[in-house]
Amino acid sequence: MQHETKKIVILGSTGSVGSQALEVIHRFPDQYQIVGLSANQNVSLLLKQAKTFKPKVIAMMDKAACVKVKERLKLLGPRFRKIQVLFGLEGLCQLAELAEADLVLTALVGSVGLKPTAQAIKKSKTIALANKETLVTAGSIIMDLARQHQAFIIPVDSEHSAIYQCLVGEDFASVRNLILTCSGGPFRKASQKFLEKAKAQDALKHPTWNMGQKISIDSATLMNKGLEIIEAHWLFSVDYAHIKVLVHPQSLVHSLVEFQDGSLKAQISQPTMKIPIQFAFSCPARQTNPDIQDLNLESLNQMTFNPPDLKRFPCLRLAREAGQAGGSAPTVLNAANEIAVELFLQDKIKFLQIPKIIQKSLSDHHLLADPTLEQIIQLDTQTKTKIQKQYSKK
Ligand code: MG
Repeated sequence: MQHETKKIVILGSTGSVGSQALEVIHRFPDQYQIVGLSANQNVSLLLKQAKTFKPKVIAMMDKAACVKVKERLKLLGPRFRKIQVLFGLEGLCQLAELAEADLVLTALVGSVGLKPTAQAIKKSKTIALANKETLVTAGSIIMDLARQHQAFIIPVDSEHSAIYQCLVGEDFASVRNLILTCSGGPFRKASQKFLEKAKAQDALKHPTWNMGQKISIDSATLMNKGLEIIEAHWLFSVDYAHIKVLVHPQSLVHSLVEFQDGSLKAQISQPTMKIPIQFAFSCPARQTNPDIQDLNLESLNQMTFNPPDLKRFPCLRLAREAGQAGGSAPTVLNAANEIAVELFLQDKIKFLQIPKIIQKSLSDHHLLADPTLEQIIQLDTQTKTKIQKQYSKK
């Protein structure tokens, strides 16, 4: 059978999701072609990826990294000299709009993904969305844009991919509840006393998933699940009251949908991001990938599901409340969280200060009911700068 090659841009190709996406693409060279790659500042990995996938365009967020990439490409010969190298957020936006691209995988970390994602949607690209912060910070605007420009948004976040897969062929009106599963993170069993002293290296040891730093800390605070509640609200237009969370430490059931007739559908597989990445590229088709291990149901000892502990993990409650408050509240929640995580990684604040900083930012801010994209970007920067100033002296 003749396939048409899907042309793909990856925003954030040197991160965890970006690298795994390239491994998926490498398995199916007849079906997928890389036309653009972007990274923050990891020059050596980006160049390695460029040699293998020969993109037309590269964008680097960091200026010095951009200069280095240009120099090194020149040395690689004429084929590589032709690669266009762009710089900064402007460059990322240009890459997101690339005329040749059919699909843009947004695997950036944080609200920096907002503008490039919006640009890709405006060009009616299919979006494989791994950058949840974009939907958290500006869900209403992003979803409106997607409707207006008929751009499909296919979730790459494993829970949302699971729900998306459960909803294929279903009528949205028959959904009763979405149930997001949560591994519980590295501190699932930790005492309050331990949490008071927890360090970044403790939080970076995730029991079932191997991920980047920011999402690993978000998993430790359970903010990741909180952000995912908001993400699910926007992706599937389901009220917050109908989005539940259950702790499922085995990370095999990636999420469930409960329907009006009492039926539950779940997506179950090995905990590997390659499945949701690959599904976002191929859907509704499925492909055999030898890198993905089968799940042997007979070998499973047990699967457990329990409610999360909102006392030890207040971030989950804060996120749900910000989602329900709507307007600019999730923007502030997300911005405060991004900077608090950064400060924690730099050992400038304690683990339990993360929710406190977020709570304070939320109570200090005046809610905008219907913020514009510009207002969101401004509020994101303001919130981050304010916290940064307060703690940089310490
Ligand atoms: Mg997830």
